[in-house]
This record gives sequence, C-alpha cells and structure tokens, in this order.
Amino acid sequence: PKEVPSNSRVLMLLGQLEKLNGEAVLSDAEVSRHITSKILHLIQTQEKTRKEITAKGSSGMEVILASLEVSGGRRVGVLVSKGGTAILLQLLITTSKEWPPSEELMLQLHTILAKVGPKDRKFGIKARINGALNITVSLLKQNLQNHKLLLPCLQVLRVYSANSVNAVSLGKNGVVELLFKIIGPYSKKNTSILKVTLDTLAALLKSKANARRAVDRTYVPTLLAVYQDWHRNDTRHRHVHIRKAILGCIRNITNIKLGRKAFLEADGMRILYSTSTECLSVRTLDPLINTSSLIMRKCFPKNRLPVPTIRSVFHYQLPHIPAEGPVAQLYRQPPDVDDVVDESDDNDDTEADTENDTENEEDEKNHKTQNDDIETDISKLRPKENLTRPLEDLKMYECFFPELSENFQGYSFDSSKSCQTPAVLPKSLAPIVVPTAHAPSPLSLAQGELTDLPLDLDSICISKDGPGGAVVGSLQGELEHDDDCSSHSSGELGVLEVPDTAALLPLHDPELYIDMVKGTKSVPQYTEVAYPDYFGHVAPTFREHILERVYGVQRAKIFQDIERMIHPNDILDKVVYDLDLKRSPVIDDGESLKFNSQFESGNLRKAVQVRKFEYDLILNSDINSNHYHQWFYFEVSGMRVGSSYRFNIINCEKVNSQFNYGMQVLMYSVQEAISGHPRWVRTGTEICYYKNHFSRSSIAAGGQKGKSYYTMTFTVTFQYRDDVCYFAYHYPYTYSTLKMHLQKLEALRTPQIYLRQDVLCETLGGNSCPLLTITAMPQSSSNDQICQFKNRPYVFLTARVHPGETNASWVMKGTLEFLMSPSPMAQSLRESYVFKIVPMLNPDGVINGNHRCSLSGEDLNRQWQRPSPDLHPTIFHTKGLLQYLSSIQRVPLVYCDYHGHSRKKNVFMYGCSIKETLWQTNVNAAACDLQEDLSYRTLPKILSQLAPAFSMASCSFVVEKSKESTARVVVWREIGVQKSYTMESTLCGCDQGKYKGLQIGTRELEEMGAQFCIALLRLKRLSSPLEFRNSSHFLDVENDLIESRCKVTSSTTYVLDEDEPSFMEEVDYSAESNDEPEPDPDPQETPADEDGLSDSELALRRS
Ligand SMILES: [Zn+2]
Repeated sequence: PKEVPSNSRVLMLLGQLEKLNGEAVLSDAEVSRHITSKILHLIQTQEKTRKEITAKGSSGMEVILASLEVSGGRRVGVLVSKGGTAILLQLLITTSKEWPPSEELMLQLHTILAKVGPKDRKFGIKARINGALNITVSLLKQNLQNHKLLLPCLQVLRVYSANSVNAVSLGKNGVVELLFKIIGPYSKKNTSILKVTLDTLAALLKSKANARRAVDRTYVPTLLAVYQDWHRNDTRHRHVHIRKAILGCIRNITNIKLGRKAFLEADGMRILYSTSTECLSVRTLDPLINTSSLIMRKCFPKNRLPVPTIRSVFHYQLPHIPAEGPVAQLYRQPPDVDDVVDESDDNDDTEADTENDTENEEDEKNHKTQNDDIETDISKLRPKENLTRPLEDLKMYECFFPELSENFQGYSFDSSKSCQTPAVLPKSLAPIVVPTAHAPSPLSLAQGELTDLPLDLDSICISKDGPGGAVVGSLQGELEHDDDCSSHSSGELGVLEVPDTAALLPLHDPELYIDMVKGTKSVPQYTEVAYPDYFGHVAPTFREHILERVYGVQRAKIFQDIERMIHPNDILDKVVYDLDLKRSPVIDDGESLKFNSQFESGNLRKAVQVRKFEYDLILNSDINSNHYHQWFYFEVSGMRVGSSYRFNIINCEKVNSQFNYGMQVLMYSVQEAISGHPRWVRTGTEICYYKNHFSRSSIAAGGQKGKSYYTMTFTVTFQYRDDVCYFAYHYPYTYSTLKMHLQKLEALRTPQIYLRQDVLCETLGGNSCPLLTITAMPQSSSNDQICQFKNRPYVFLTARVHPGETNASWVMKGTLEFLMSPSPMAQSLRESYVFKIVPMLNPDGVINGNHRCSLSGEDLNRQWQRPSPDLHPTIFHTKGLLQYLSSIQRVPLVYCDYHGHSRKKNVFMYGCSIKETLWQTNVNAAACDLQEDLSYRTLPKILSQLAPAFSMASCSFVVEKSKESTARVVVWREIGVQKSYTMESTLCGCDQGKYKGLQIGTRELEEMGAQFCIALLRLKRLSSPLEFRNSSHFLDVENDLIESRCKVTSSTTYVLDEDEPSFMEEVDYSAESNDEPEPDPDPQETPADEDGLSDSELALRRS
C-alpha cells in the first residue's frame, strides 16, 4: 500500500488501521474496532474527511478494504453495527454526482459494499432508500465489457435483489434483460461473473412479474439451451455451480403457471430427464439431479385421480344430517358435481401482481405459529363444573354398575379356592416382576415347537375359486353347508388345510371367528372372510429391524413416475380392480395380479396395472367423507414367483410418514400359514413416501387449492406359487376378532374374577358396543369384604376410536388378558380397582375399513364436548358412564384412551396440566401460582421405568386448542379425572430402550397393555404410605418437572408432530405447483418508514 500522509486525523487513524492489518493475527480486535468507529464518526460528521478519504490518490478506501479483508467477517460486522453501510451508500451517491465519476472509487465502493451487504440484514432497504440501486444499474449498463468493474457491481446487485421490493423495481428497470446480455455459451473464462449473474437472475425471478417477463422474452428455452450446453461441455464437472445456478433460475420461473407451460413447450421435461439420467452415476452431481427432479415434479402436468368421485364408494344414509361441518357440506354438494378436481385450478396466475412488496418477515411469523395451538385461555383450562346431564337422565346408567349395589348374599364363596387367592399374601412385600416380550413365556415356547415340528393340522373346508384361489372362505357357504366340506370345494386345491392356531393362540378359534362374523353388520354386507383373521397369527420368532433408509430411493421412484410422461406408450393403464364398477373386471389372462378387499376392515378401492410389474392403488375414503385414507388391507393373488412387484398407493394425504423412516408394510402369506407359519411379516423394499402429481381437490384439502396427493410405494417379491397374500398398513384387528376375544376371555374366568360383559349401546350400523367390568370377587359376603369391594377406585379404559390405529386394539388385548390372568399380580390389581373398559369405541369404522371416522363421517375423538346420542352413540354413552360416576362422587382415578401414532416412534402418553400448558406459552405467568397436583406425571413415569417401548421424553402434558373435544381433555376438564391420558403407540418401532431399532409387533403391543396394568398396581402401592416412603425418590416427579420447566425456552418441548432426524436425501415436500405466495403488498411503505432501519441508522438520520 501507498504511504499515508499523516497531516489529518482521519489519515492518521487509517495509518493505524493499516498497521494493525499488517499484524493480522496478533491485532487486538478492540483496538481495531475503536479505530474503525472513530474513522466512521469522522466520515459521518465531516465533509472534509469524506473528501480526504475518497480523494484521488488517497489510499483511504484501500486501507478500509484491506482491513475488511484481513479479519474476514469480524470487521465487516463492526462496520455494519456502527452504521457503516449507510455511510458507504452515501459515499456512493456523492461520488456518482461528481463529474466525471471516479471509476476507481466506484470500483472500491462496490467492492466494499459487496462484502458488507451480505452481513447487513437491512442492506436491501438501505440501498433503496439511499437511491443506490440505479447507480449500480447504470454503472453496469455502461460497463458490460469492463470485467474488472462488472464483478463487484454484480455482486452488489445480487445483494440488492434478495429484497423482494428491490427485485420488482429492478425488473421494471430492465435488469432481467440486462443480465441476459451477460449470459453466454459455455466458456472457461469469466465463470465467476457468470455465476453471480445467474444467482442475481434467480433472485430476481422470484418475483412473479420478473418471471413473467422472462417467459415473455422466451428466456425459458434460452436457459434450457444454456444448461444443455454446459452439461455437454463441462465434462469434468468443474463448474457444477454454474449448472446449479441455471437450474435455480428455471426453478423460480416455473413457480408461475406460465413458466411451467413454457418449460413443457420447450421440451424441458425431456431435457432435464435425459441430462439427469446421464448424471446419475456421479455423486457430486446430486444437487443437479435433485433440483432437476424438483422442477420436473413441479411441471409434471397434474393428473386426475382415476375415480368418479372422492366420496366413499359405500353409501350409508345418516338418521339426520348435522347442521354444519364437513358432513353437512358433503350432503349439500350437488350429486353431479365433480369433486375430484377443481376447475379453478387452472387460473392460479390471474391475480394482480404485487408491485409493492414489503420486506419478508417470515422468520418471525414461523416462530409465532409454532405455538399457536397451545390453549392460552385459562378459563378453558380450569375445570368445567356445570353442563353435565341432569341427574335423572344419568340414572339410566345405574344398570351398568351393579357392583356398587351387589351384596353377594346367597352367593357361595368356595373357601378352598378363596384361600388360594393372592389377596391373603402380604402385598407390600410381593416383588414386582416385570415380564418382557422376549422373556420365555408359554406362548414363545409354543412357537419354538412350531419351528421345529410339523403342526398337527386340522383340516377345514374353504371354497377356493379357481386356480390361485382369490376368493376367501365364503360366509354364505359356511352358513348353508356348515358341515359339508366336499359340497363346495372346487378348483385344483380343493380342501384347504388350516393351521391349528388354537394351540398357539389361546384366544383364537377359527370356528368361533366365523360365528362372530355372522353377527357383524357391514355397510357393504360382506360375505367373505380374510384368511389372516380366520386363521389368526403368531408373532414371528425373528427380529424385524427398522429399515435403514437407502440413498436415492425416492429419486429413483420419482424418475420412474416421470418416465410415464416421457414414454407414455410403455404404460398399460389397465384397471384390474374397481369397486366403483358394479362388477369388478375379470382378470384371467395370467398377466395381472388379482386384488380383493371385500371383507371386514378391508380397504382398497381400485387397482390399476401401470407396467408389467407395477400397480397404482387407490384407497377408499371413510364412509360419509371424502378423504381420510391411510389404512389399507387387501388381498393379492395370481402372482409370479421371483418377480419384483412395485405397489403405489397414490392417494395418501399426510405430508410425511414413518414409511420414510424405516417402517415396512405387513404381509400375510396363506401358503406360509398352511405350512405352519401363520404370521404377519414386515415386508417391502424400496419403500418411500413422497408428493405425487395427482391433484387433490380443494374440497378434500380443506379449501386449499393446488394441493397434491402423496404416494406410498413399496416393492415385494413373492415366494410361493398359487399363494394368496394380504397387505396391511398395520396388524389388522377386526370387530369380529374383538368379539371372539371377548368370548374367549369369558372362558378364563375363575371364581376369583368378577367379569361382566354388557352392551353399552348400539352403533349407527347396528353393531353392539361392548362394555366390560373387571375386578376381584369379594372373598366373602362379610361386611368388610363387601365394603372393600364397593369402594375400590375406578380405572376407566377405552380404545380404538380411530379405526386405522389397530395397534390400540393389540395393546387393549394385552391389558384384557392380563386382567383376566390367574397371576398374583393380576389378582392384586383386581382387588385394587374396578376396571370399566370400552375396548372398541368405533366398531362401525373398524368393520367398514375406515381410517379415522365413524359412519357419521366424523372423527369421534372430536365429539366429546357435545356428543350426539344419534350420531355418536358410543361416545355419548361412554361419556354418560363417566358423568354418572361423577354424579355419585366416584370419579375414576385414571382414564386412558389407547391410540396409535403414525408419525412417531415408541409408546408415550399425552396428559393434561394447566401449569405445563401455560409455561409453554410464557403467558399468564401469574397463573402459575395456582395449585396443581403433580401426580398426573406419576403413571407415565412408572411406565417409562417398566415398559421397554415407553418413552417419557415423548410425553406431553400440554393442552392444545385443537384437542379440546378429545376424550383426554374432556374427561380431565368436565369429569375431573386428573390422571386422564391418551396413550399413543407407534405404528413403526422404537428408537430407545430394549427394542431400539426394531419394528413393533403384536407381541410388544400386547406386552405394553400388560405393562400398563402393572404400572397401575405400582401406582396403587405408591399411594400406600409404607411403600411411598421407600420409593418417593425413585419417581422424582419434582425433578422432572423442573427439567421440563427449564426446557420451556427451547421450542422443541412443544409437541411436534414428528421428531425424525433429517437424512442425507432430503425429502422435498415443497414441490407444490401452485405459486409461491409473495409477501403482502404494502403501498404505504415510504422512505420515512423507519421500522426497517437499524438503530445506528436511525441515529444517523436523527443527527
Ligand atoms: Zn388416534
């Protein structure tokens, strides 16, 4: 650097700064900060200083530049924080007014601004307010060939363009066209200029007006040609960043409909598809493939879901239509209206362009919305005491509680047996032994035999329908020819052997199952029974690991989907199953799979063969609804052994799924079953879940337009010839299975067990809703015993309000079996509580293959505040039971509703706490003074110590607004049950504890149900003073609370829908084809608006 004359203050300071620059590492940051701020102050206050520093021949600017260079970001930060940006911009203005303007100074100023700009969040606004935009633009126009000046100017322009208001204004001033003049064909020279130009262009093209301008000037084919040129010539991949930047421009233009049209007309699909497939082998080119794939998905023409209507195939007329809500809307809709697509989808480009965008404040907005669902209205968190039904009305429930009036007079207590009851054992001394699923049990011993010895198979008659046998045992046949096997056995297979599952499954009985099916009323009036439900199943003896996600699966699948458009002639498009047709297509050419789902809990609406070994599947919506599909259960036959079949469920609705995080589908092979292994096995490779190109009408998407469905895809290779295989979302558990289990439970009754089975009510579909009462018989009819019997606290359990959450039923099965078991612990538990259990709150939904709703088309777990006796009888009466208990001062100690969770791992609970809810929101801090019993945390805490699948870390005790009408919240608030929970079991598997890395099976789920019982016993013992003293620190509820309170500042304590880590291959859900929303227009914005300025800048203005 030149020598700095030291005859002025500023030049002296600059000299010091230069000297410090030389010492780089050793320099004291404080000193240089001090000097920098002094220089700034002088420039700011003295005209003379400004002149001195920018005068020809002065090295002032160079020193500042060098200074910025030396310490990287740190000094830039100082400069920004001291208000340097505005000073530099003013210098730029002043310099530009001089004639002739100094090119050198302009160059220096832009070089500094290019460094400072990206560090200053408000740079774009400041530049616009100071009028710097046009100075840079005109400098650029005059110096297109001057590469030395071009680069810093473009760099500054790039920072300007990041601001959306600037982007619109720059576009009006012809900057898009200007930049296109710089973009040329492939050349190794000046690649940095090209890169900045493309980045700036991409930023400008985020504005709709600019994107339209680019389409009008036919820049889309130009960009595609430039991309192909670079793709062809950059063979050694030295300039991947240039290609990425070109794609960035295309990506932004195709955010508008016109852009997508231009892209398709310019053969963009084929160009990006072929360039991408050529890149596939080079891992470093992944960003190009991923961006290309994103653009292609966005531009892929939206397809119509191939169904006549999105309403359920099955019709069920409701007794009356609710006045409002989704069902009312559904019924109000004229019958001939096309609800599959929106016509208005086509006009998404007509809205007026926003020329006066304001700054993007999205960051802050996102922060706020996250906690939006937390209930902050304390009046809605406090107990709600009135509004219960009148006492005389609740009297009708008295008959469900005979245990409260029974006095057992005249009942003969078998003394020889009662002395064996564990009740006489000293309870507090009995150790709690925790059985776990992998410990040897009678069941797993039986399985050991199963693998070693051939089963003694009972033969049973089932009609087979032709070769391959697609039709399951016909109920009609069973009814008519109960004992005559030969009369309806036909086809080559003839009589089918049935595994003797009764030996393996104590609660299963195929014949009893058929009996139960006969009494089950389905809307489609099913006459077939699925083999897995009939045979039963045992848990496999091998471990089923959560799959590792394979890199590139999603991409490969999406490319296969894109090929459908590129090579349309390869697509068969053959309908092989269709419930919308009166008669399903007859498939007998041996070229296609046969499908069936017309049995209890079945759900498949349509199957279309797309390629030789690929099928698109469409699920049926819940009855009286036009969406909710996730649950599936169907049968496949006619497969070829050894070929890989790809199945795509193309009308999924959720934005993400555990299928992206290692979950597999379930498959049941009848061939395996009859050879002695009746089991559901986790199956499928190349599984992933992604947004597809089938458009979802706004009717089904809650009013939002331009939404798409999601595809869940999996690949299966079949093992056996002439097999019949079943696929399910999760282990099926039908209503008939429940009825069979309840009958079998009856057989487990001993004289010590008090078991009652009542019918709580009838469902809309005419099925009965069972209610169970389980407790211990009193040991005698003595007053003491009867008194103890009558005063046992209630535990109230419910499950399966959501039909698609079959895991809840398996957990419930575990609970019921434990409660009926002869073990001392079970007896002790029965003596401690009276259990009231509604094991299936939504029988109709389960029977008819719904995912979420009942026949009323509504989510029953959103009806607890005001259940209707006609439309939601099971909820109305279950709530009635609880209200009755409340009216007689017998509020249950614990309420728990069993559910399944589709997007999280492990088992966990949601509870209710006013304090924890308010802490999350940091409002109403004063309300934290209110007293709250902390014991709501005890049960989950015990479970986390007992049950391997249970995770305390996933529990939450926050009350959300959206959950105010759920069982958990209403039972807590209205009935006054402090320990009111939802217990959520994963559909996938565990990421902690003993089962870490494993997918969950029925054995683990049933174990969970048993552990829940043991936890209740522990809860009981903790409340006895003797044991409490010994184990109070074991629970450490207080400490937990303090922990959770500390975490309040971090947003992660809030109940997130999913908590999966990201993986290498980004799952891009942003490929919406609708336009990105632009910031709200705000024509009021003027330079006088000081909100957008930093403090230092405000100070500068005031001075
Ligand atoms: Zn649920």
